[in-house]
Amino acid sequence: MSSIRIANLYKNYSALPVLKDINLEIETGQFVVFVGPSGCGKSTLLRCISGLEGVSAGTLAIDGKMVNDVAPAERGIAMVFQSYALYPHMTVAKNIAYPLRIAGVSKAEQHRRVEDIASKLKLTDYLHRLPKALSGGQRQRVAIGRAIIRDPNIFLFDEPLSNLDAALRVQMRLELTTLKSQLPNTTMIYVTHDQVEAMTMADKIVVLRAGVIEQVGTPMDLYDWPQSEFVAGFIGSPK
Ligand code: ADP
Ligand code: MG
Repeated sequence: MSSIRIANLYKNYSALPVLKDINLEIETGQFVVFVGPSGCGKSTLLRCISGLEGVSAGTLAIDGKMVNDVAPAERGIAMVFQSYALYPHMTVAKNIAYPLRIAGVSKAEQHRRVEDIASKLKLTDYLHRLPKALSGGQRQRVAIGRAIIRDPNIFLFDEPLSNLDAALRVQMRLELTTLKSQLPNTTMIYVTHDQVEAMTMADKIVVLRAGVIEQVGTPMDLYDWPQSEFVAGFIGSPK
């Protein structure tokens, strides 16, 4: 269970302002999508939320605590990136179990959790394979499995499907929608530059442009009431 409050957040990289006066509230269990063109600051905002990047000004609180005041291991945040770095010498089962293994969880418990996650992610038949014997979509599912096994309160995705071909992206979109319904208390933030992903998966869409939030709303809000030509163009609505 985790809600996120961002107020007057600015982020600069040396002299370059990348995020400007970001104000955003995300409730527990919401599936929020950040969209916007390449370079607009989506990944930077996600990294600020994860605590991987400090902010230059403003506040970013998770459940009322400043993210940088909480130790990384206690933040309850998992992240999946576009390039799913699996351990090539470990089987699927070992890759998924890895966070539990380093945390010293018993073999029996690791096994139970891996089986459960593999069935959620349709990986049961692949548990003994090495990553090189998997398709791109299957590898990305393993990366997702390795993230969920830690039972995160907040799950951050940075363009997880952009290396996959079109048919696989459609399939993975459906699978992520299923995952969202299986994890109703997990807050999910999903970064993409693909408006179809945004429109089909989001409870709430945040449209970013050059480091500023252009509009926040449900997919229908944005489609029916785009507040600028930019949003209309991005969402594909007829304004
Ligand atoms: P997006 O994910 O929307 O494509 P990013 O958040 O990656 O955008 O980048 C936003 C801007 O910040 C870009 O101009 C990018 O070049 C710059 N940027 C991102 N990361 C760094 C960094 N570590 N150092 C300097 N500039 C960066
Ligand atoms: Mg990015």
